[in-house]
Amino acid sequence: MHITVKDISRIFGEMAPTRLAEEWDNVGLLAGRSEKEVKVILCALDFSAEVLEQAKKCHADIIITHHPAIFHGIKQLTDSDWRTALLMEAVRNDIAVYSAHTNLDSAAGGVNDVLAGLLELQNIEGLAGEESLEGIGRIGNLNETVELKAFVEKVKRVLMLEYVTVVSANRPVYKVAVCGGSGMDFLDRAAQAGADTYVTGDVKYHEAQEAFGKHINLIDASHQGTELPVVNEMADRLALRLSRDGYAVKVLVAKESLLLRTI
Ligand SMILES: [Zn+2]
Repeated sequence: MHITVKDISRIFGEMAPTRLAEEWDNVGLLAGRSEKEVKVILCALDFSAEVLEQAKKCHADIIITHHPAIFHGIKQLTDSDWRTALLMEAVRNDIAVYSAHTNLDSAAGGVNDVLAGLLELQNIEGLAGEESLEGIGRIGNLNETVELKAFVEKVKRVLMLEYVTVVSANRPVYKVAVCGGSGMDFLDRAAQAGADTYVTGDVKYHEAQEAFGKHINLIDASHQGTELPVVNEMADRLALRLSRDGYAVKVLVAKESLLLRTI
């Protein structure tokens, strides 16, 4: 059966509804022809040069990313800026680009549910305290209380990271809040919800002081490290949905290297 970029956008929109995106965000089909037939989909965290290279190699018709390929308004479409140069290259190769950002953060089964699942949290609730499991961030408890060191090792193992950065509040770990990506705006919510430990990314020095002052263990597992796991999950779910609906579409996952590394 024939499926187009427009159909893929609609189906993905059911998995990560665009109504869940923050007002400032830019999600949906961001480049490409909506009537183009899709046989190969490449899922990735970012629309980057390495991802576009892989898309060309595997003859992808559409790249689905978490971070928006176009975020700030574009005033020129030229090759003088690396972002627009990449977009031009995608368009030249007839590869569409679809992005689901804060809507995928908030969606049930999205970034934060995947993170909470990997950490084996129980009794998972939205960090925003909403009844439905939609909204940014999750909180849940472990099966048993563990020492911070042991929990940190678990975070590294399940996220496949060589290192994480930690603020120890000298508390054992039981109630854990998570927010993939840049989650320090939600530190207060994590504290109010009773978390003893908060796992997020992009922590700045003075924000780390806040966590210490509020007696919360803080684990910075990096922006990219906390969000990469959702890519596999969204590819699996999309592949399942498409095969169930009778479409012979290949759904691939890009190999993305860690941008920030310790040397
Ligand atoms: Zn992010």
